[in-house]
Amino acid sequence: MSTATETKTALRGGEFLIKDSTWEDIYIPEEITEEQKMMRDMTKDFIRTEIDPNLDKLDHDPMLGIDILNKAGELGLLGLHIPQEFGGEGKDLTTFSFVTEVLGWGHGVSVAIGAHTGIGTCPIIYYGTDEQRKKYLPKLATGELKAAYCLTEPWSGSDALGAKTKAELSADGTHYVLNGQKMWITNAGFADVFVVFAKIDGDKFTGFIVEKGFEGVSTGAEEKKMGIKSSSTRQVFFNNVKVPVENLLGEIGKGHKIAFQILNIGRYKLCNGVLGGAKRALNQAVKYANERQQFKTPIAQFGAIKHKLGEMAIRTWTAESASYRVCDWINQEEHKLKAAGKTMTEYLTGGAEEYQIECALLKVLGSEVLDFVVDEALQIHGGYGFSEEYPMARAYRDSRINRIFEGTNEINRMLSIDALLKFAMKGKIDLMTPGMNIQKELMSVPDFSSPDADDIFGAERKVLKNAKKAFLLVAGGAVQKLMMQLEKEQEILMHAADVLIDIFAMESALLRAEKLVNLHGLEASQIYVDMVKCFFFDALDRINTNGKQGLAAFASGDELRLMMMGLKRFTKYEMINTRDIRRAVADKMIAENGYCFWD
Ligand SMILES: Cc1cc2nc3c(=O)[nH]c(=O)nc-3n(C[C@H](O)[C@H](O)[C@H](O)COP(=O)(O)OP(=O)(O)OC[C@H]3O[C@@H](n4cnc5c(N)ncnc54)[C@H](O)[C@@H]3O)c2cc1C
Repeated sequence: MSTATETKTALRGGEFLIKDSTWEDIYIPEEITEEQKMMRDMTKDFIRTEIDPNLDKLDHDPMLGIDILNKAGELGLLGLHIPQEFGGEGKDLTTFSFVTEVLGWGHGVSVAIGAHTGIGTCPIIYYGTDEQRKKYLPKLATGELKAAYCLTEPWSGSDALGAKTKAELSADGTHYVLNGQKMWITNAGFADVFVVFAKIDGDKFTGFIVEKGFEGVSTGAEEKKMGIKSSSTRQVFFNNVKVPVENLLGEIGKGHKIAFQILNIGRYKLCNGVLGGAKRALNQAVKYANERQQFKTPIAQFGAIKHKLGEMAIRTWTAESASYRVCDWINQEEHKLKAAGKTMTEYLTGGAEEYQIECALLKVLGSEVLDFVVDEALQIHGGYGFSEEYPMARAYRDSRINRIFEGTNEINRMLSIDALLKFAMKGKIDLMTPGMNIQKELMSVPDFSSPDADDIFGAERKVLKNAKKAFLLVAGGAVQKLMMQLEKEQEILMHAADVLIDIFAMESALLRAEKLVNLHGLEASQIYVDMVKCFFFDALDRINTNGKQGLAAFASGDELRLMMMGLKRFTKYEMINTRDIRRAVADKMIAENGYCFWD
């Protein structure tokens, strides 16, 4: 773990909404260590030599993923997060994240590697017995065994617990008999080990480790997918499969804990990976814009293109700030729990569980930033963007899945608010006091004070506090008014989650920029200060719009008017010239011929 990580104060999950943080508390990717840099460079070489030249071939034959996984295994990329005592490298989440981000360049192959190291292997690391860990993890670390995760079924996707796959204990008590069918299983074409969820006696949702060699396991044909064609996706069938009792994973009836915990950390990792993809698309867009001439001018020189490039970079950098912030929090939590003598299961799952709200927010944020970036990158390529001879068509197709798997973005939006309310009900965070203070503030004279003129981020700090009030105004008002009915008012939940995402992104970007200013001075960091201001400007508009729509869905008359006045007050920000900022951001990338804000 980096020294920086050890000295920072982490907020508890969801607390960002009610507590302030300082720049000293945030981990930023610029704190990467020499060792992490070396691993990152090695991963870049791996992508450039093993994946990039073979993208077309891989898209036509996902089974070639076997060779790629073998090579990744030889380089140690598959065992980074596996504890050393079980044959892995035992690296912390930060190191894993630096590598995952680069692996995010690899299109469908990234998904294959991510499914193997993440949802395929993590259930065994986190919940396996020591015997199961010893048996499977060393071979999963080298790639000798390849893993898949079988949760979804044809009839149950988002409603994962509605699974029909059944397991019944044999009369002699030596094995379970598994029957059922799983759908959309990544790596199914070549996986040797399947983590499968099934119901014992029809109702006890439970995890199992199933080997390909067990009689009765078979797979369907490759799915004909719109994107990530180089990853294998098939149905998996279980026909009277005898699974030895020692292959039961975790506890009987507690499979939901495994399934959801794995998805928590999976959501964080998804965000991490998609940001690598976003930077790559941005690099390609900048290079193309510099080369392509129209009207005897490189298109990069047109304001419309600079606007796109600037905005793509600002969103990517902001999401990246949020992603590494959460990475450090999870890391710290894991280390804290380990130091407190918790079991491997407890300390490895504790981090992602604590930050489940942030993991859900990051999943939505990252996947939507990537979709925005690849869409604009394609547009910058014009007709060539639409051609399979150029890289953007593949990037565009491959991006889209990220809003669907690891819980759809709708489900993740609802989860984030649901978890926040549960945290509040359990007394883990106090939303009541700040909520009541807002009610009082609405009835009092507005605060017209201006921030200290010498404080570069004074306005943003004030506005950030106000944005949090805007959230509490909308979500708190909805809870008071609708009570238990709120969970059925999904439109309001969606608006509230969008506000939450913007707040988390705003704060993370602000703290990162403040840290950079403190580390390197204002002159060297001016561009980041400006990027933050530009993001704030747009985010506050979005918060206002989401807030208005949320409020109008449950309030009316004088009550609505009063709340709207509050919302207007809480989303007010200074007028800034966002055109100039985006131009400056684009100009820097145009001059450097690529994304240049970190790495
Ligand atoms: C390429 C690919 C790879 C995959 N890999 C794996 C894998 O390795 N292992 C695995 O187990 N699964 C995998 N999946 C499955 C994936 O996780 C599911 O597709 C996803 O969870 C959504 O489920 P669904 O497709 O059944 O959609 P549905 O759940 O039917 O959802 C359809 C739409 O309804 C919305 N919706 C659903 N429920 C609600 C609700 N309560 N309120 C509001 N809106 C709702 C959804 O947001 C979505 O927009 C993969 C899928 C794909 C396409």
